[in-house]
Amino acid sequence: MTAKIWTHSADSHLLEPKDLWHQFLPRAQAERMPRIEQINDDEERVHVDGKSFVRPLPKIMKVKGSTGLTIAELSHRPPGSRDIHARLADLNQEGVWAEVMFQSIGLWCGLIDDPELIRAAARAENEWLATEIQAVAPDRLVPAALMPLVDVDAAVAELYHAAEVGLHLVNMTTGHPRAAKDYNDDSWEPLWAAAEETGLVVAFHIGTDGGDQASMFRGPGGAVLNYVQAGMGGQYAAMKLVASGALERHPRMRVLVAEGGASWVPFIGDRMNEAYRQHSMFVRPQLARPPKDYLYEQVYASFQHDETAPAALWAMGYRNVMFGTDYPHLEGTFGHTQETLHGLFDDMTPEVRHRITRGAFEELFPHVSAPPA
Ligand code: MN
Repeated sequence: MTAKIWTHSADSHLLEPKDLWHQFLPRAQAERMPRIEQINDDEERVHVDGKSFVRPLPKIMKVKGSTGLTIAELSHRPPGSRDIHARLADLNQEGVWAEVMFQSIGLWCGLIDDPELIRAAARAENEWLATEIQAVAPDRLVPAALMPLVDVDAAVAELYHAAEVGLHLVNMTTGHPRAAKDYNDDSWEPLWAAAEETGLVVAFHIGTDGGDQASMFRGPGGAVLNYVQAGMGGQYAAMKLVASGALERHPRMRVLVAEGGASWVPFIGDRMNEAYRQHSMFVRPQLARPPKDYLYEQVYASFQHDETAPAALWAMGYRNVMFGTDYPHLEGTFGHTQETLHGLFDDMTPEVRHRITRGAFEELFPHVSAPPA
């Protein structure tokens, strides 16, 4: 360990205040919004609009935060996950300058069925994100807008609203949106056009398919199988936008697949090119260039620990590899970010390190400032 490596993070999270919905929404609506209730030392219950389910709490890990944390806080919810000033102290200590921040509680909004409720919730959360979060350090904090994906018109309206309040990206679910056609359908065209027009990045955070219990693996190895499976929704989302021609029609549109690793991109690109070439008689629509070109140019992908991710750049020519801490989650690097960065990059050229820690991020979000020299 020598000098501090400053990085940006393309994948971080914030935990909304417990009373967020009550601050913005009428009581009757606020009470239907997602909330999390800890039911014992090992489990919590997620409530969303009359539905609820239990999920295991992350196990306590050794985490070195900026403050003296109690054991209960040494989980994936250190004070900085809620308190924006404690967060900045954590970021400075970890060597993280700017970061994309996804919601936590807001992610469960995908389970809401009532279009009116989800539209109101997204509008409220996005105004809160712009004024209470991003405004604290607009050159460092890049919160993702919550999107009402109940229909395309609602999504388009909220994307323009997010742009108007100054947000820089929108957060889509990786799964097939519940009340709309899938992302490869042309009905989504107005949203891609709006993203291109405003310059907002279209982000897919892995594991936002909706928590389908039926498709979970069980038995020996289940935890590992489910972990890998959870990352695949982002790959499908990217493939849908490439294969349907959406990215070709919108060459300035940029997509971020967060937390799902990066070395899948060359692999998927090769597979898509082979399909395109060998099965060309079946391929609709025809694209002007091979699918891998669009994937490589317009899709950005973030990883935390993956030791093969840098090679996707230097050995396989995929330039949009981005580091992400996944702060403050268990899957992330909080407490060992510098160790992780040195392990990844000490043997790499300065160009590779710069591109992955900063260059790709600053290309997507040119408004962020540079870290201390
Ligand atoms: Mn994440």
